[in-house]
Formats: sequence, C-alpha cells, structure tokens
Amino acid sequence: MSEEPIPLARPVIGQAEEEAVLEVLRSGQLSLGPRLAEFEEGFAAFVDAPMASAVSSGTAGLELSLRAVGVKPGDEVVTSPLSFVASANVCVIEGATPVFADIDPVTLTIDPQAAAAAVTGKTTAMLPVHIFGYPADMAALDETGLPMVEDACEALGARYGDGSKVGSRANPAVFGFYANKQMTTGEGGMVTLGEPALKELIDSERNQGRSPDMGWLSHERLGFNFRLSDIACALGIAQLGHLDEMLAARERVAGWYAERLAGIEGLGLPCPDQGQARRGWFVYVVQVPAEAGRDETIGRLAEKGIQSKPYLPAIHLMEPYRERFGYREGQFPVAEEVAARSIALPFFPQMTEGQVERVSAELRTAVGRA
Ligand SMILES: *Cc1c(COP(=O)(O)O)cnc(C)c1O
Repeated sequence: MSEEPIPLARPVIGQAEEEAVLEVLRSGQLSLGPRLAEFEEGFAAFVDAPMASAVSSGTAGLELSLRAVGVKPGDEVVTSPLSFVASANVCVIEGATPVFADIDPVTLTIDPQAAAAAVTGKTTAMLPVHIFGYPADMAALDETGLPMVEDACEALGARYGDGSKVGSRANPAVFGFYANKQMTTGEGGMVTLGEPALKELIDSERNQGRSPDMGWLSHERLGFNFRLSDIACALGIAQLGHLDEMLAARERVAGWYAERLAGIEGLGLPCPDQGQARRGWFVYVVQVPAEAGRDETIGRLAEKGIQSKPYLPAIHLMEPYRERFGYREGQFPVAEEVAARSIALPFFPQMTEGQVERVSAELRTAVGRA
C-alpha cells in the first residue's frame, strides 16, 4: 500500500461536472452557446472583477491581453525570468522583446526596483507573474505608470498586498484552466477586465475579429480562434460551484507540508504571506539544498513512486531566448539560483495527510538531512 505512486497533480471531477458536460452534449449547441456568458459572469464574480472573457488557454489570454493594452511589434515588455515559458513566449510571438528583470529572493515575483530599472523608451507594458500563486507587488509596479498585464495563471484565490482579490484590478489579469490548476476546464483560460472597451476587443480577437453585433462572416479586424467551447464552459461552471472547497483543501495540504518540512536544514520553503497578501495555493515548490542536487533529488523520489519535477527552469537560459536575444548565465542571479534548486512536490486537493507524510519523509532522506 505505502508504495502506491503519488502523482504530481490530480483534478477534482465529480458528478456535477459529468452532468454539466452531458447536458451541453445533449443540447446540440457545443460552442458559442449560453454557457459562455454564464461562465464569464460567474468567474468575474468569484474574483470581484467587473467583467471577464473566456479563452481557449491561459496562453491565448496573455497574448490577447498584450494586444489589448497596445503592445506592438518592436516594443519591449518587462517580465520575470522565473515563470512558465508561456508568459515570455507570448511577447515574442507578438513581435515584442521580453526584457527580463530579476526576482525578489523572498516572494520570487519580479523585483519592482529591477523592473523599473529595465524600462527603456521602447517599453510599452509590464507582464508581472504571480508565481507559485504569490501576488507580485502591483502597487510598486504601478509607480512606473506602464500598462500591466498580470499573469495570474497560478494565482486563483490569491490576494494582493492591499487585501483585494487577484484579478480585481482594472488591467487584464489572466487565469489558466489546464488540468493541474486550481480549477480546470481541460484546457482553457479567462481574462478578467475592468473596461468594456478591452473586453470588446478581446471578445472580437478571440473570434476571428468579429464584433458582437456583426454577422458570422463580417470581420472588422484580424483575429484568432481562441474561443472556449460550451462543453469547457459547463465544466468551468461546475468547478466554480466547489472552488472554495478545493482552494481550502489545497491550503490544508500546504499546511501539512509546512509542518513536516520545517526542520530540514537548507531546504527553502514557500514564503509566508506578508501583510494582507495571500498566496493562492497552486503548487508546492521547495528549493533543495545545492549539494543535494535538483535532478538527483527528483530521481530519488521517483524510485519511491513519488512524482516531482524541476519547477521552474529560468526562461532566459532556454535555447530560443539565448539565440534570439543573447541572454546568458549570470544576468539574473536570483532567478537562476532559485530555478537551479526548485522542485514541485505532489500537490492536489484530495491529497491525504499520510501521502504528505510519505513525501516529506522521502524528501528528507533524498536530500540527506536528519
Ligand atoms: C499555466 C500557466 C500559463 C498558461 O497556461 P495554459 O492554459 O497552459 O496556456 C501561463 N503562465 C503561468 C505562470 C502558468 O503557470
């Protein structure tokens, strides 16, 4: 029994999800039906946002948001090197240059001072990432006066330093619904917004440039197909129905980890919440002691049936970024050091205290610390 494999992540899908999806299948209207607006409104209400646009993925939402705030080819976008690669990729795909700024060693989000120092005459936006669910310091970043696009794909349920919910600010904030996120639609994403004009633009560009009141084959601008199907929206609505419980369960699991991992010397744990800021628990990421070795630790856990992975590698050191922009080792030392030691441990709402105990004990052995 104790050798049963422990996966990295697992969604919580129940009867409500099954019934919601079946209902859409039986309705005959699989996309652009009534579930779209219902999901958008329900999600916006959950994060205290005035409005939201559902899209086919978090990545699609980031790309449409950059376009909505006016980023054009040749522009520079200041962003974090410690993120999932999507947040930098969308800048490149839109023809902009991702200009990285190093991270804060405690919160691991972009350092506001480094971000301000990276601004040039070509900078037209910032793309802060609420990494591992911890909110970036938006109040400090706002002092640059630049348009913001928030990557909130890991931060559902988080609160900014002023206590308000991540996603409730006027600028676009992007959430993702891949199967390992706090809630899932299989694939999917959502952009929360404060301005009707931005929602209109995003709704149009996700749907081939069609405007809401135009006929199917009239297009006033170019666009993509970044739509989210009614099947996925129905799944999302059902997930919203028990999102509070799922978030609370993640927080409970994080608490068990914090207790059991606290005594391991040299192991870096997620930072505690500062002031009114709250982490939205998405992953449980630790930094292993340098001598233990990140990949060796992952290998040792795997031998015990415990899944873990390097999370996250620094983006600027990835081949396309080295080649295209000339990024290299040593430019963002804090991010590089954190990335070199970070692993994500198994973490999901239905994880038991016994499973956390087993992972913690095996991690302790793997890093060779009493
Ligand atoms: C998951 C994630 C995304 C994008 O998600 P997709 O829905 O897979 O496109 C973007 N940024 C971060 C930090 C993420 O964790």
